Amino acid sequence: MKRLAAVLLAASLGTLTASAQYKAVNPKVANIVSQVSQEQITATLKKLESFGTRNLRSSQEDPNRGIGAARKWIYDQLRSDSPRLEVSYDHYRVKKDTSPGSRIPQDVDLYNIVAVLPGALNAQQRILISAHYDSVNRTGTPRGQPGYPPPPVRDPNIDAPGVTDDGSGVACVMELARVMSQYEFEKTIVFVLFAGEEDGLVGSTLYAAKAKSLDQKIEAVLNNDIIGSDVGGSGRTENRKVNVFSVDPMDSPSREIARYVKEIGRRYVPSMVVDPVFRPDRFGRDGDQSALNREGFPAVRLSTPVENFANQHSATDNFEGTSPGFIARVTQVNGAAAATLAWAPKTPETSQTIERDGRKVNSILLTRGKSAYDALLKWNNPNPEPDLAGYVLLMRKTTAPFWEREIYVGGVNEYLMPDVSIDDYVFGVAAIDKDGNESLVAPYVQVPHPTRPISTY
Ligand SMILES: [Zn+2]
Repeated sequence: MKRLAAVLLAASLGTLTASAQYKAVNPKVANIVSQVSQEQITATLKKLESFGTRNLRSSQEDPNRGIGAARKWIYDQLRSDSPRLEVSYDHYRVKKDTSPGSRIPQDVDLYNIVAVLPGALNAQQRILISAHYDSVNRTGTPRGQPGYPPPPVRDPNIDAPGVTDDGSGVACVMELARVMSQYEFEKTIVFVLFAGEEDGLVGSTLYAAKAKSLDQKIEAVLNNDIIGSDVGGSGRTENRKVNVFSVDPMDSPSREIARYVKEIGRRYVPSMVVDPVFRPDRFGRDGDQSALNREGFPAVRLSTPVENFANQHSATDNFEGTSPGFIARVTQVNGAAAATLAWAPKTPETSQTIERDGRKVNSILLTRGKSAYDALLKWNNPNPEPDLAGYVLLMRKTTAPFWEREIYVGGVNEYLMPDVSIDDYVFGVAAIDKDGNESLVAPYVQVPHPTRPISTY
């Protein structure tokens, strides 16, 4: 009895000290948000525009115009941010592809630009902030004119300033590299500028395959593509809202990132609404996050809700059509989410591998408890961080898109909810550290029953 009282006291003390921090603003994250500079973003956009085109097949040699000049400038900028930022080219020689629909009519050198900020505690865990720095001009002869339809592959040297698509994303990634490289995080942050997005997600597909072959632990990808325009082609304006696209199902790792960006975004950038869209991308379209999803990495896309299709992939995607203020706010949302996650503990595990009938199976750590009518949640967290404060449990109705209830339970590894039916709710658990940084939510995801072949005679 005495021992139980002591345990309860310790648990409640833990709850008190940590819950004072939970959901509070971490001053270091708030600093990062406040250091994002609209002036710096403006300067980056104008510089990117000055290269004329950043088409994958444009000049690699010209010192002022084309993708080669652009990548050297981006590389040098990243190098100058901090000696702790490890900047490199992720280079491929891409063979020409003559199959129908291909946008690679000739052999081409492709360079992704990668800047790694190594983590100090959980360095193997990676958080990517990405965009694509290539551009394209795909406008052609108007319908009804001689020469229509235009050829699918056009002269790579015509103007393609690509300020919104995707100079806006590049400016966001470069600005966060500048600001965040002044800090030390627990996890590794990787700033990635892909090439060849406009030619079929070529750079991101190669990058994702390499990351998979190296068994990299990519915890989250925040891909920023078209975060520049705040006036759509229809005249609709929207500069306080950003869409975050995530692939199905409802509790996919990508969707948990989308919920996380919404949660952290509203805490640190209250001027913005983060609006998750439960789709992999805009209707019928895709982006570099899709290439990462295909290799099994959790990745979301941030994008403006108001695109201007008249300027997209044309010579008029210029500085006038973009909003540095809007880009700065989306950059702040990225920075808050990435910084919180990079300082947060590892995500707890809600399942474990066990032996059943001589086979290894994945066993979910959610049961009905001894009574058979309660919800008993357990979770594992091997090698917890020294600054771990405890865990928060999350619940929502099975029909609800976002977590509805949160219960901070302190430094325990299981929790019983009496008389709560596990049929009625989706549950999750997240780890919280002493500064209030929270991990991604690990949902308790139902595992489908294995199918058994049935023989008839
Ligand atoms: Zn794009």
